[in-house]
Amino acid sequence: MFHYFDHAATTKVRPEAVQAAVEAMTLEWGNPSSVYAFGGRAAAKVKEWRADVAGALGCLSEEVYFTSCGTEGDNWAIQAGVERNRRKGKHIITTAIEHSAVLEPCRELERQGWEVTYLLPDRQGRIDPAQLEAALRPDTVLVSMMLVNNELGTILPVKEAAQSIKRLGCPALLHCDAVQGFLKVPFSPKELGVDLLSVSGHKIHAPKGIGALYVRKGLKISPMIRGGGQEFGLRSGTEATGQIAAFATAARLGAETMEQDRAHMASLRKETASRLKEQVPGLKVLIEDGAPHILPVTMTGYKSEVVVRYLSDRGVYLSSGSACHKGKPSHVFAALKLPKPELDGALRISFSSDTTQEDVDALVSALSAAQRELFPSMS
Ligand code: PLP
Repeated sequence: MFHYFDHAATTKVRPEAVQAAVEAMTLEWGNPSSVYAFGGRAAAKVKEWRADVAGALGCLSEEVYFTSCGTEGDNWAIQAGVERNRRKGKHIITTAIEHSAVLEPCRELERQGWEVTYLLPDRQGRIDPAQLEAALRPDTVLVSMMLVNNELGTILPVKEAAQSIKRLGCPALLHCDAVQGFLKVPFSPKELGVDLLSVSGHKIHAPKGIGALYVRKGLKISPMIRGGGQEFGLRSGTEATGQIAAFATAARLGAETMEQDRAHMASLRKETASRLKEQVPGLKVLIEDGAPHILPVTMTGYKSEVVVRYLSDRGVYLSSGSACHKGKPSHVFAALKLPKPELDGALRISFSSDTTQEDVDALVSALSAAQRELFPSMS
């Protein structure tokens, strides 16, 4: 028995998604490209699953391209975005608090001669839309801005970015990493005004190893993988039907209960924040509002890795930063320019529809025990 508070890192696969994957792998397990009826039935299933994901995203089926993960979608969007606009300029804008799935491809482009502007957040993790507007130039070919930050839960001004790009007549394509926003905050790619948008299965109770990239209808981009021409010729490779079935099922069911799930997470987040502030002296909530599933806090003066280990020994799992940055200080918390004792003690508590009241009780008592029993660091 354990209490899991790291749903921004990954979620448990829901039983209906497991069932859908089992059926895809044991009943209609044909190759969707095969011309005989058994292949045709698998192809028809892929079509249905694509429609399910499109329904959950609020876009057209033909705008959904399955990928292997959120990282692939981010890499593809950035690469294809700059290639498409190659002749128009070599300037990219992103934010200093993006996931490394966006920052690393941007750094690689910098090495290849592109210029990248990294927008900085304020102390509350907010990105000022005016800062983006001021950074846009006639040679800006790509803007990549996440919807929800994975460590802070802050919501970024993606819609405002789209409006600025349009208003200034800038050639930039707009990519949004919506991995943490999908089914956590209401949006559709059209409403946001984005050209490209990436999501991932394992953050929404589907398995790891599946994601999708939204590509606005009419936008021509270069393929991610060349080969047999699957995914409308843009991402070859035999469709991962088991993963896709599970992803589509989790997306469809998650969309049906999104409002209830959001209310559940928001209420647990609020309760956790107020009980922690009351019962754990010195604990500070870093961001009071934002997405319903992420609560960043700091135990000022404590070392977050020590707290994470202490809690882990007591069956309470949370993260000292993004799970993708193991061992390295988080660039996101660092970008907030917190005083060192606050930075050192930063923790991310994240919820899902699976989180229960008992989980919250266990977290509050484990964190208050940590505060009493551990020594604050002197550094
Ligand atoms: N983008 C954000 C904001 C994320 O939180 C993550 C995962 O933590 C990713 C991208 C990468 O997604 P995946 O793990 O599916 O590659």
